Amino acid sequence: MEMRLKGKTCVVTAAGQGIGAATARTFARESARVWATDVDAGKLDALKGIESIVTRRVDVLDKAAIGQLASETGAVDVLFNCAGFVHHGTVLDATDEQWQFAFNLNVRSMFWTIQAFLPGMLEKGGGSIVNMSSAASSVKGAALRFIYGTTKAAVVGLTKSVAVDYVSKGIRCNAICPGTVQTPSLDERISALGGGADAKQFFLQRQPTGRFGAAEEIAALATYLASDESAFTTGTVNVIDGGWSV
Ligand code: NAD
Repeated sequence: MEMRLKGKTCVVTAAGQGIGAATARTFARESARVWATDVDAGKLDALKGIESIVTRRVDVLDKAAIGQLASETGAVDVLFNCAGFVHHGTVLDATDEQWQFAFNLNVRSMFWTIQAFLPGMLEKGGGSIVNMSSAASSVKGAALRFIYGTTKAAVVGLTKSVAVDYVSKGIRCNAICPGTVQTPSLDERISALGGGADAKQFFLQRQPTGRFGAAEEIAALATYLASDESAFTTGTVNVIDGGWSV
């Protein structure tokens, strides 16, 4: 057992699979008490039985459910906002419904979770908020990511706004911008493009390392930002993209 998050209570959204699940596991390995949440309770089953992880079904589109979670956890030290969804397409492909859904899930959910958990952090005198953005169009223009890239750029603005308003109160707020990471949703996106070698190549050609990132590599960065090792770091955009944006 490592100790980098000893004594800290952490909330993770979208912890059912991919980066969120890897981060919940890493936080627990670093001695944190972890509230692992996801809209799909079944996906959280794999985390059950890990000492120091508590699982809860929470839909981040449901403000009341977020408030209920915050009442149950009490004041926490770390909030990792990981939930997000990728729409494929250009501005001319986009629909109002897709735009609304993406902004609600990728951006408004963070507004709601921060409103729910920040007061407890302020009472405690400190806390670390880590928001999941993306390299796609918030760092580098990404083809066919109009809605997604727009929401993830908004996450950067949200992150800097919270960081500057609360820096003197011991609160840190940082964003993570990954390149393409091997997760179940990447597999779904490859399948949606036909599933063959060309579909995989659409994503792989963006990665000069010639491979996708691993969820554990993003979890390692989230752990650093959650821990006191990054105490002098706030309002930052942390690119972890295998050289995509170089
Ligand atoms: P994923 O897309 O494979 O899994 C997402 C999880 O979110 C699922 O367990 C799902 O049940 C949960 N979820 C969906 N809607 C929810 C809701 N309303 N409330 C709570 N949970 C909900 O995970 P991933 O690929 O690891 O992506 C996680 C985050 O990282 C997303 O914000 C994504 O945009 C971002 N990201 C991913 C990549 C990548 O290549 N995978 C790259 C950059 C950024």
